[in-house]
Amino acid sequence: MSSTRIDAETLRRLPKAVLHDHLDGGLRPATVVELAEAVGHTLPTTDPDELAAWYVEAANSGDLVRYIATFEHTLAVMQTREGLLRTAEEYVLDLAADGVVYGEVRYAPELNTRGGLTMREVVETVQEGLAAGMAKAAAAGTPVRVGTLLCGMRMFDRVREAADLAVAFRDAGVVGFDIAGAEDGFPPADHLDAFARLRRESVPFTIHAGEAHGLPSIHQAVQVCGAQRIGHGVRITEDIVEGKLGRLAGWVRDRRIALEMCPTSNLQTGAATSIAEHPITALKDLGFRVTLNTDNRLVSGTTMTREMSLLVEQAGWTAEDLRTVTVNAVKSAFLPFDERNALIQDVVLPGYASVL
Ligand SMILES: [Zn+2]
Repeated sequence: MSSTRIDAETLRRLPKAVLHDHLDGGLRPATVVELAEAVGHTLPTTDPDELAAWYVEAANSGDLVRYIATFEHTLAVMQTREGLLRTAEEYVLDLAADGVVYGEVRYAPELNTRGGLTMREVVETVQEGLAAGMAKAAAAGTPVRVGTLLCGMRMFDRVREAADLAVAFRDAGVVGFDIAGAEDGFPPADHLDAFARLRRESVPFTIHAGEAHGLPSIHQAVQVCGAQRIGHGVRITEDIVEGKLGRLAGWVRDRRIALEMCPTSNLQTGAATSIAEHPITALKDLGFRVTLNTDNRLVSGTTMTREMSLLVEQAGWTAEDLRTVTVNAVKSAFLPFDERNALIQDVVLPGYASVL
């Protein structure tokens, strides 16, 4: 069966795994409106549909100030226990509705402390909301497992603190770590002490690299800091000339270091020029451990179903390709090996049997 004939509903129901999705970039527009009213925060508009359109337009503007301003309006409603509980619970339910069976949500707890919560209280509250969402999704017959990646903001000074929290909560739902924020000018090796602590404690981590900055950033993330996955990594293509891999690209492919690729987000930030030309297709064909992700569902106006359908329609992807990136994501999930295997054998492969 040709995947170009997969209808939208079939695509939505296919099992998916997402490794790179930000909690504060994925709120429901109606929730932002309601919570903003409750905390007295002024939004560009209080109409949920207009707000959704405003987000995408601001993110598409190519204006970094406008792009960053979008997160101000989501973060503004994520400073209280009520706001965090609700957004975390809805986060899980929205993944379930998108056909996601395994997700890793990431956020920087230091950005949710303006209302007086400590970073530790933020993490506890988000975990409570995620657990409530998982219970509801399971009860509704659409079980989804969601693990947490705590982020440190690379341009600020609380990265080590966030890493220490990842260690502290490793048996309470936190499965790994990341650094987020402006990549250019803030190299991964600035935070070596945090990554050394994580390595000593055997806590896995990924690093945003190769999006705004090129090969030196990916090199530091992988070879100096020891990242097991790369957030985006699109610019690894700079180390590939006419299909021939340089040493760094070879290392990334051969060691099976997953690339957490986010096509729509990359178009908005200028890291890629079109879905048809996005490096995700060439890297998949070269045998890299490519995964497909949303990055920021509200800000990019996207879902996993939409990302898949764009690749099918504009880059010639088949159902087999969709299965490949889904299996890749589960293989590279920060879960124990036996649990990853079980997810692939019991959930992902049977889910694709009807379209392959
Ligand atoms: Zn990201």
